[in-house]
Amino acid sequence: MWSRTTKNIKNVVSYFRTVNFSSQVVCHQKVCIVGSGPAGFYTAQHLLKNCPTLEIDMFEKLPVPFGLVRYGVAPDHPDVKNVINTFTAIAKSGRLQFVGNVTVGKDVTLNDLRNAYDVVVLAYGAAQDRWLGISGENLCNVVSARKFVGWYNGLPEESHLKFDLDAETAVIIGQGNVALDIARILLTPIDMLKKTDIAQHALEALSQSKIKNVKIVGRRGPLQVAFTIKELREMIKLPGNSYRIHLENPEFIDACLPKTSRPRKRLTELMLQSSSIKRSEEDSSKQWELIFHRTPIKIVGDSNANKVNGLVVGINHLTGDDWENPQVEDTGLRETIPCGMILKSIGYKSLPLSDELPFDHAKGIIRQTEGRVEGMQGVFCSGWVASGPVGVIASTMQSGHDVGKRIIEDLKNGIVGTGTRKPGRDAILSQLEARNVEPVTFVEWEALDNEERERGKYQKKPREKIVDVREMIDIAKKGQS
Ligand code: FAD
Repeated sequence: MWSRTTKNIKNVVSYFRTVNFSSQVVCHQKVCIVGSGPAGFYTAQHLLKNCPTLEIDMFEKLPVPFGLVRYGVAPDHPDVKNVINTFTAIAKSGRLQFVGNVTVGKDVTLNDLRNAYDVVVLAYGAAQDRWLGISGENLCNVVSARKFVGWYNGLPEESHLKFDLDAETAVIIGQGNVALDIARILLTPIDMLKKTDIAQHALEALSQSKIKNVKIVGRRGPLQVAFTIKELREMIKLPGNSYRIHLENPEFIDACLPKTSRPRKRLTELMLQSSSIKRSEEDSSKQWELIFHRTPIKIVGDSNANKVNGLVVGINHLTGDDWENPQVEDTGLRETIPCGMILKSIGYKSLPLSDELPFDHAKGIIRQTEGRVEGMQGVFCSGWVASGPVGVIASTMQSGHDVGKRIIEDLKNGIVGTGTRKPGRDAILSQLEARNVEPVTFVEWEALDNEERERGKYQKKPREKIVDVREMIDIAKKGQS
């Protein structure tokens, strides 16, 4: 890993060397970024590349960087996490200061940042749950995907959660990649999970899990699923599992294929082939199913324990000519899917971190045009807080780079950063000190990173994540004393 990181730093150095200096902007304005996930780092990358004199401060609420790359991406997808090497190289370029353990909106306000910096970039992601709005949603063991993912990935605020994994059947509502990640984590043989960076408390709980059927339920049909082919392939190949893909009208789906995009065509073909090839169930103790055309109507529980024991769904019928975006019509028919756990994978949303921020509450995103926050000169936003929880790290990279371009245009054209000289970091650090906040630097994070890797060695894992914020800070600070 170390050699990879070194290689990456070299890559970034050579990346800076490839820059066309005539297109660069010399600017002395002060820039800060809120959030250290992909959106924050890729916005920084574009700015640092194109403004050789610019320095950036990056505020992060957790004592650790990288956002959903650390706390969202599934533990059995280590390759996806390699972007951390690029982010590390950006953080070590000497022109970006990571300031961890600082919650903007609590420890410092957006106004404080606007007073201290010429440009503020909001890249704080989407870390709130969406609700189905049906009865029974508050029953025990009805869980949001966000919480479950945070739990198995060692996110401090979710690490204390206890789930009842004694039931045999779990239903996942939603048919995106997060739904398949969760299904995989529930069904993967424990010996395989042991070798990943999954949090130890989750590994222990999953090793006792009795869940052996996972039903992945969607409102629409196979032509509209949001998951991608790689994730479906992984499910199909999952050792110890058989599966059923309930295709009601394969002839119709087949007839639609010529009208679909290439990735959609390949994904649908895989579903068609897999639904007809029945995998041997001889050594399959577990099973997953893809169930389409079902809308959750209500969640039912047993009267004693207040615990879920079924999901009532309405059976749908899709109409309209637009196969990509059909209308969903309720047939009026109902069925109950018995289950002891329900995971809602219906998307994430953001919240405004200050009252004055223009915010679309229905979509859970900041109101913006091309990354420029409406009515707030010098304030920009990128990534999931701007777009909503759509797309992967690559699309977030594009969003970060695009917003970086807009910032440079505004700096170049004197639209931002022309007023009185801003105090920058020093002003914020003194405020934090006065409020007894202990900021964590990138070097301190590296001390914590080393400790996690060391602890991982004992368990034969890439790392053992530390989940207590106080312990994280203590290790980070001690490593540097
Ligand atoms: P985030 O990654 O969420 O980063 C936001 C950062 O802001 C966080 O570090 C957060 O702590 C910080 N923050 C929040 N509030 C504040 C505040 N008030 N003050 C300071 N800091 C704050 N993409 C892939 O390409 N491959 C995958 O395998 C993949 N798996 C995924 C699995 C899951 C479960 C999820 C949810 C997403 C996955 N994605 C994957 C998508 C990818 O994670 C996102 O595209 C990307 O992380 C979005 O980046 P972001 O920077 O906008 O948000």
